[in-house]
Amino acid sequence: MTSQSPDTKISVETPIRAPSAVPVDDAVLPFEVDALDLRGRLTRLGPALDDILTRHDYPAPVGKLLGEAIVLTILLGSSLKFDGRFILQTQTDGPVSFLIVDFQAPDRLRAYARFDAKRLRDGQNSGALLGCGHLAMTIDQGPDMNRYQGLVALEGGNLEDAAHEYFLRSEQIPTRVRLAVGEEWRGGVGEGPKHRWRAGGMLLQFLPKAPERARQADLHPGDAPEGVVSHRVAVDDAWVEGQSLISTVEDIELIDPDLSGERLLYRLFHERGVRVFSPLLLRAQCSCSRDAVASMLASFAPNDRAEMVKDGKVVVTCEFCSSVYQFTPGEAGVEEGSVGP
Ligand SMILES: [Zn+2]
Repeated sequence: MTSQSPDTKISVETPIRAPSAVPVDDAVLPFEVDALDLRGRLTRLGPALDDILTRHDYPAPVGKLLGEAIVLTILLGSSLKFDGRFILQTQTDGPVSFLIVDFQAPDRLRAYARFDAKRLRDGQNSGALLGCGHLAMTIDQGPDMNRYQGLVALEGGNLEDAAHEYFLRSEQIPTRVRLAVGEEWRGGVGEGPKHRWRAGGMLLQFLPKAPERARQADLHPGDAPEGVVSHRVAVDDAWVEGQSLISTVEDIELIDPDLSGERLLYRLFHERGVRVFSPLLLRAQCSCSRDAVASMLASFAPNDRAEMVKDGKVVVTCEFCSSVYQFTPGEAGVEEGSVGP
């Protein structure tokens, strides 16, 4: 299943533009801080995220967790070129047993989560909602390319922890990730306050020209038997500074609708000089269609199709976008007389 490593390194792009003071939602801003050999991406999500989460009417903690998964997927998947696809999935034993985010380059996004409402409790954080299991990241760059799959164990930690573990183990690129999701209430004229989901995130990578500068200390040196001197690696000063800068980013700064991405980047990195590249715009759009559902039905065994007939029709609901597709038994390829009483 695993083949060549995906291109999750951030590539250098050409145009540099004047900073925009106006916040842009549903966008990814690539940036670099040359003086520290840092590259990164900042994302802000508004209507696209709200569309996905509201469509499913998730309980707030589930919406927040799925929002975090969406932000992480965008930060990782937006480096893909052409019509590549990045899919992030978790399968765990917590109240949210499954979630999937499907990003289709350059800009299409869809997602859903499965959860057990009876197991939701007040104050559960993302780690508790997920529980233990694994997170899988699949990169599909089209029929001529091998699929790549990376797996990370989830052991009660959150998605930021899982991303750090992935980059340490698999990519060996010094990387820090920040994810934030929040709910916003704004008053409308003559109506009650309107609820909206917002999110933001940042990915920062240390990519020095000399690879030995990017060596990292192992995360868990604690298992070594007594007497074994662990191999100590001094972290490069530039990366120490980069990590300390990203650690100062507050959740509210990532989701603030009145703070533009450029201003946030300037706030963080202005002393070192930051270059911001053209934004990539995102949209929430499912790729399901009546034709696609019909051909999926056609791929089922005749018995299975017959069992799907309820009240004289076959109804299929898309789990990603909740679109409902209805077929007559004839359209669904169910032979007459094969439907039981
Ligand atoms: Zn759909």
